[in-house]
Amino acid sequence: MAIRLNNHTTAELVAALAPLGVKPGLARRIQMSAVRRGTLPAPAPDISPRVMARVREETSIPRLEWAARRVSPVDGFVKYAFRGDGPEPFEAVGIPLLHRAGDPKAIVCVSSQVGCALGCAFCATGRMGLRRNLAAWEIVDQVVRVAEDLPHRIGGVVFMGMGEPMLNLDEVLRAARILSEPCGLAIDGKSITVCTAGIVPGIRRFAAERPPYRLVVSLTQADPARRRALMPVEAAHPTAEWMDALRAYHAATRRRVTLAWTMIAGENTGAADARRLADLVRDLPVKIDLIDVNDPTGRFRPPDRAELDAFRDALRAHVGAPVARRYSGGGDIGAACGMLVGTV
Ligand code: SF4
Repeated sequence: MAIRLNNHTTAELVAALAPLGVKPGLARRIQMSAVRRGTLPAPAPDISPRVMARVREETSIPRLEWAARRVSPVDGFVKYAFRGDGPEPFEAVGIPLLHRAGDPKAIVCVSSQVGCALGCAFCATGRMGLRRNLAAWEIVDQVVRVAEDLPHRIGGVVFMGMGEPMLNLDEVLRAARILSEPCGLAIDGKSITVCTAGIVPGIRRFAAERPPYRLVVSLTQADPARRRALMPVEAAHPTAEWMDALRAYHAATRRRVTLAWTMIAGENTGAADARRLADLVRDLPVKIDLIDVNDPTGRFRPPDRAELDAFRDALRAHVGAPVARRYSGGGDIGAACGMLVGTV
């Protein structure tokens, strides 16, 4: 099988291209051109035509096919549907950060799988079930395609689209490496976020390998029985076990972990929920991101202003950790958290 030039880290490409007579410096130029532009480097006096002929024979640069694109008239979020190795579409979202005057940037929310096996009750992707894992190049090219389309610099990448990143962790870590290394897209590793529903071996791998990426765990309920009703993954990866893994991660990295809390009115936004969360994270430095639930079926709805304010106050009083409300935009075009189902 041909070597896919945008599917490998620099070290992997240097090793894979060496038998073709490619020196490490040329391998890096090939990677940069393949990842960023989807082409081989232009002919140059210092590049052997004979070596490049062999590279052309033995390699390929797959690209995502555009399936659809839609822009929110409300907040400028852009939803993209792509096709890659298979026929089923998957999505990425371009998130403009226009409030930063003078340096407008965009974040790209990428998918790591088509569909998702975890079946969270409040998530449309989960209702699809898992179709397949994405290859590293299919993740990297989501960012490249969005960067080609948006006028803003790409300031970060979040693995919060379709899928559970830690159930496709080899490809996710390879993609994150390609996105961050100098001959890939050179995005600061600290601006890449991997969000998990609490997959214990994945968090333990983060503790052992200490990649620079930000780790977010989607918690949503601190009481295991009630969490299990919303997030069935609790049965296979209990809160007590992933909390142990998070403690090991914190001990290894000294980094604060972010816990994402999908707010569901009448379900997890009461003072008792805040107290249970305080008990759970008593010995672990965390940050809490509050995100409105987005459920087009209408079964789950976000809290109103008064309920949100009361919950935020209860969290500040009981947990003592930084609390931020994250704007979950693109709801009008089905691009918000939990809404991605492969259609635009
Ligand atoms: Fe999967 Fe995330 Fe949706 Fe849960 S919220 S079903 S982990 S995509």
